[in-house]
Amino acid sequence: MPEAMVASRASKGAGTAATQTVDVAVVGAGFAGLYLLYRLRKAGFSTVILEEAGDVGGTWYWNRYPGARCDIQTIDYSYSFDPELESAWKWSEKYATQPEILRYLGFVADRHDLRRDIRFGTKVTSATWDETAERWQIATNSGAKVSCGYYIMATGCLSAPKPPEIDGVKDFKGDIYFTGRWPHEGVNLAGKRVAVIGTGSSGIQAIPLLAEQAAQLTVFQRTPNFALPAHNGAPPAERLAALEGDRAAYRDQARWSMVGVPWPQQTIVSWQLTDAERRERFEAGWAAGDLAYILTQLWADQGVDLDGNRIVADLIREKIRGIVKDPETAAALTPLDHPFGAKRPCLDTNYYATYNRPNVTLVNLRAEPIKAITASGITTGKRSFEVDVIVFATGFDAMTGAIMAVHPVTGRDGKSLSDVWANGPQSYLGVSVAGFPNFFMITGPGSPSVLSNMAVSIEQHVDWVVERLAALRDAGFTTMEATEAAQAGWAQHMADCSTLTLHRLANTWYTGANVPGKAQGVMPYTGGVGPYRSICNDVVAQGMLGFRLSGPNGAEQCNDGEIVRLQPDVRLVLGLLAQMNLPPFETMGAQGARDFLTEFNKGRPAGRPVGEVGDGVLMGSEGPLPYKLYRPATPGPHPIVVYFHGGGWVLGDQQSDDPFCRDMCRRTDMIFVSVGYRHAPEHRFPAAAEDGYAATRWIAEHAAELGGKAGPVLVAGWSAGGNIAAVTCQLARDRGGPEIGGQLLLCPVTDCTFDRPSYVDNGANYFVTRGLMFWFWDLYCSPADRTDPRVSPLRGKLAGLPPAFVTTCEFDPLRDEGIAYAEAMAASGVAVEQLKARGHFHSSFTMVDVVITGVGGRIKMAEALRRFAGLPPEVKLPPQKLDAAAS
Ligand SMILES: Cc1cc2nc3c(=O)[nH]c(=O)nc-3n(C[C@H](O)[C@H](O)[C@H](O)COP(=O)(O)OP(=O)(O)OC[C@H]3O[C@@H](n4cnc5c(N)ncnc54)[C@H](O)[C@@H]3O)c2cc1C
Repeated sequence: MPEAMVASRASKGAGTAATQTVDVAVVGAGFAGLYLLYRLRKAGFSTVILEEAGDVGGTWYWNRYPGARCDIQTIDYSYSFDPELESAWKWSEKYATQPEILRYLGFVADRHDLRRDIRFGTKVTSATWDETAERWQIATNSGAKVSCGYYIMATGCLSAPKPPEIDGVKDFKGDIYFTGRWPHEGVNLAGKRVAVIGTGSSGIQAIPLLAEQAAQLTVFQRTPNFALPAHNGAPPAERLAALEGDRAAYRDQARWSMVGVPWPQQTIVSWQLTDAERRERFEAGWAAGDLAYILTQLWADQGVDLDGNRIVADLIREKIRGIVKDPETAAALTPLDHPFGAKRPCLDTNYYATYNRPNVTLVNLRAEPIKAITASGITTGKRSFEVDVIVFATGFDAMTGAIMAVHPVTGRDGKSLSDVWANGPQSYLGVSVAGFPNFFMITGPGSPSVLSNMAVSIEQHVDWVVERLAALRDAGFTTMEATEAAQAGWAQHMADCSTLTLHRLANTWYTGANVPGKAQGVMPYTGGVGPYRSICNDVVAQGMLGFRLSGPNGAEQCNDGEIVRLQPDVRLVLGLLAQMNLPPFETMGAQGARDFLTEFNKGRPAGRPVGEVGDGVLMGSEGPLPYKLYRPATPGPHPIVVYFHGGGWVLGDQQSDDPFCRDMCRRTDMIFVSVGYRHAPEHRFPAAAEDGYAATRWIAEHAAELGGKAGPVLVAGWSAGGNIAAVTCQLARDRGGPEIGGQLLLCPVTDCTFDRPSYVDNGANYFVTRGLMFWFWDLYCSPADRTDPRVSPLRGKLAGLPPAFVTTCEFDPLRDEGIAYAEAMAASGVAVEQLKARGHFHSSFTMVDVVITGVGGRIKMAEALRRFAGLPPEVKLPPQKLDAAAS
């Protein structure tokens, strides 16, 4: 449909002072507003949309600059709610242009007759919650007023252009354009000297086309961005075939993916690949011309780990150098200040090659900042540029800009949203704000929004909000409001999530860094689209957890609390384990459980390279025992840590905690010797304890042969291994050595009672269960022996033990006995440090490169071990060794 026809159907702004009364008022008629209107109508709510623009389209109404396109493949960046629409509309390109997307949104509006409830040319200026009437009163620039039960801001994450912060803009006598407010009639730049300020997505899309039109183009760049070729063309046949083959499955995969595009979760990590394999993967990604692909499919660690990220960033930098002929320009265009993906990368068509054109000049504002805009051009610290036109591609006051521009939004007790958000946006799920009843945001700060395919995130938010409003009505409630506790919990979860990815390491519009004076913090939800969806579903399943609902005659329901207490990756891991529906270990028999664990461990990420990994045999209490030795890459001799693996005295072996030993070897710069002690039921109590002690003595005596430093050894262990480490320290004290410099006890078993609260609270749902622990105890130790300090060290004498670092996890049945042991040792005069890991479970710290949020804890543990060895706590991690063949 031609654009003119779309525009001609626009209804007029009402321009009346009469108050319109509706169930729901929506602000914004972009992707979100249109779908809201469709759903709200279907649900029987009277609805009006208030829209500043002259027609539907939102982003695609305003951003008409040359080259404006989507950067998620258009077949993915489309509505999925109307299967017939999917057949009725055919996209002409892999990445559609702005006019085509605008036509699409117009087509959708027509198809569902949406325009009749949209008041165009109407800008919302303020909104006030009327506590008595339980309604929002909305004011607009036209004087028209709206009274509504529910107020939904579908105002867009990238819809408030950021004003230029340069002196003298108003003095400029030439033409000024903003990419985000490009004139509808287009701009003729032929023969003009044009300046572009800004090299974010819009600048990168526009610059190649502006360069073709203008006589001279000067690009003023503050921060270079990573850009990848779009390789635009027809929608890729294989993707279309996948969509058309099974639309429902395709869309569903997108909904449950991490970024809203149906790519599988990548599990291969960078150090499992050779240089050649990594390059091959990268070249395939570069050729694919797909942002979501290159961000998620190369190797699993690129978005979460600096080493993995650096590899892809370097390969892109190499490409830039290969394309841009002038080395100085290439250097200026090369991003060095942020990890790839931490700032939104751009998709381009001929962007870098444009700088080879004779009519294009790059000005690096890091080297020569703009001093002023004058009547005739732009002056930097070094030069003046005479120009006829300035194009500002300076981006948006993202995520909060359009919401805060409605001022005031006044909630309960006269509180203004701008005051509540003075130190950064607070929300519950990015959809509602405590103190603002019946107020909703679509893709608000705190939701995946701009870190996702927005079409998917918008549909999810709209579905969720409309279904909640319908359920509220059906239950006879009239108001719905997030609680402070739920909101604070969400802020904590957001903070936990932001440690997962590298977004926190870049100053970007994701963090508010592009707007002077704006509060800083990662605004979008970084935990992923699928996990976010499941959390929203959980809120409903748990009786609207974190929302206060109220209705006539004092009716009230409030199931208060935090929706996610687990660390985000722990939640994912537990979810995956639950989906696998594994039989309980205790039903498999000891050998069956061991075999199962061996198979299970094959699926985990390979541990990282260390200097050397070797096998050997040492003398245990009754005979030889295998061990595995992890040596750092640095020159020795190194202090030695004797390590005892977990597995309830029944499972595991000297290599079952391999990734943990490698990681700790790297972080401590110490030798780790993992001991293959004997297991129950073949060898019951006290075999494991005695082996642990004997092995420690043997290792201490053979330290020099092992390449270790003379002097005290350290001991460490996880779970039952923590028990053996603790017992070893007691035995070494009582039996005259060896000298132990410190003990690291990770989620240790310390006592034989099962009645501490953590056994009750965490006994069923966190992988290590009460039933499993009973089984382990039964196999290892008869009831008569259980109070022996060699298995219940909490019952032993604790004075005179080496300094200890005790890590316990909030969601672990063993939590309280670990804390009890730490406290009892401290009470006996032992130097004890505790790490009480919030939101973690029993396996959090040993699931290296799976539970990414465990890194901080392992750093603390490594620092403690180094202190025990008399070394400065911090160690600089060796750079990732890039050969897969590395140990
Ligand atoms: C150039 C560009 C390319 C993009 N490409 C992609 C992409 O490829 N993939 C992707 O997922 N996302 C992309 N985005 C993000 C894009 O913003 C979203 O995908 C999506 O269009 C947002 O839809 P929305 O309805 O939430 O908001 P918008 O489309 O921004 O619509 C919000 C509407 O609210 C109106 N409004 C705001 N405040 C008021 C007020 N006070 N009163 C009245 N009306 C108001 C605005 O006029 C606007 O029309 C892109 C953004 C830009 C700028």
